[in-house]
Amino acid sequence: MSTAQTKQLLPVPLLDLKAQYEVLREEIRASIDRVIESQHFILGPEVEALEREVALYSQCRFGIGVSSGTDALLVALMAVGIEAGDEVITTPYTFFATAGTIARLGAVPVFVEIDPESYNLDPAAIEAAITPRTRAIVPVHLFGQMADMDPIMELAEKHKLYVIEDAAQAIGAEYKGRRAGSIGHLGCFSFFPSKNLGGFGDGGMVTSNDPTLAERVKLLRAHGAYPKYYHKFVGGNFRLDALQAAVLRVKLPHLDSWTEARQRNADTYRRLFREAGLVIENADDQSLAGQRGIILPKAAADGRHIYNQFVIRSDRRDALLSHLKERQIGTEVYYPVPMHVQECFAELGHKDGDFPVSERAALESLALPIYPELTEEMQRVVVEAIVEFHQL
Ligand SMILES: *Cc1c(COP(=O)(O)O)cnc(C)c1O
Repeated sequence: MSTAQTKQLLPVPLLDLKAQYEVLREEIRASIDRVIESQHFILGPEVEALEREVALYSQCRFGIGVSSGTDALLVALMAVGIEAGDEVITTPYTFFATAGTIARLGAVPVFVEIDPESYNLDPAAIEAAITPRTRAIVPVHLFGQMADMDPIMELAEKHKLYVIEDAAQAIGAEYKGRRAGSIGHLGCFSFFPSKNLGGFGDGGMVTSNDPTLAERVKLLRAHGAYPKYYHKFVGGNFRLDALQAAVLRVKLPHLDSWTEARQRNADTYRRLFREAGLVIENADDQSLAGQRGIILPKAAADGRHIYNQFVIRSDRRDALLSHLKERQIGTEVYYPVPMHVQECFAELGHKDGDFPVSERAALESLALPIYPELTEEMQRVVVEAIVEFHQL
């Protein structure tokens, strides 16, 4: 090995939550202590304050704290009355919870192809999937960029469908100046630790501008009871803990500066990759065939991308992934298997080839470290490793 190769090896993790905690340690410990001293652990004033703060941040009238992003989706689907036999249109290229919650209610996830540049639902493909049994559309704002909501809302209005935004990766993201979770009938957020606003465990939030739906979510969150012990609907225990709310309330005021840091890091990657001559621009229909290099993520000019992930594409993705792992650079594939070919959805009768854009994304996409505390030096290590891979 040459000295140049032995020298490098500054490890670059995909995410470093300790770096964020370092800065907030005292404040977070004090907030946790406040909850412990109060001995009020479930819902209560901390959760109510977080609900107001996240609703305000997300340009929504109502926020309802729940136990996870998955439960946010589940309770939102329940609130709009999704039941067995209903069809719900969504994307095959997402985290499992989007489709899993639909299936758990006995409803049918009806998959629609994605746009190759944004990885989000392709609105032009939705109408053909609408049947008399369609009840709702669940667009996902993948990687921190919002789906093309105007045509989705138009279709929903035309066909009298509910729209539930899966905004788990998109808190603070904007579409034409409007925030994630504020455009559909309900918005669903996750506070899983790796999300841009992460708790010290599981947590989530449902947002809405519709008082009736917000009230229904609130009832369903606690077994559909109102008043206590009188049950209007069958709900569940989808409550948020006060400890999580207290931690999240310390973090929320920092979210915009973290988002700006992620956006700066994205700009730095774009500059470094271009300087290295590694970027395939204007790839025809995003096809990488025969081209050496990578495709950078596209950010819509009229949106606010919050970069929960910075996802590049390579037609030698798996080899590139191994190369980066060897150099102790954290990477991840979001997501290796699209929903329509998951084993648990076999009875939907899909096969490879049904959604070629999603399938190719699953084969080519690779997430690079983008967290706020990442330094330019670390980004240079990442880019150099990818340059080196292309010289091999
Ligand atoms: C994280 C995530 C969820 C689920 O959130 P949890 O809090 O982990 O249950 C749902 N949808 C998407 C797109 C996600 O990224």
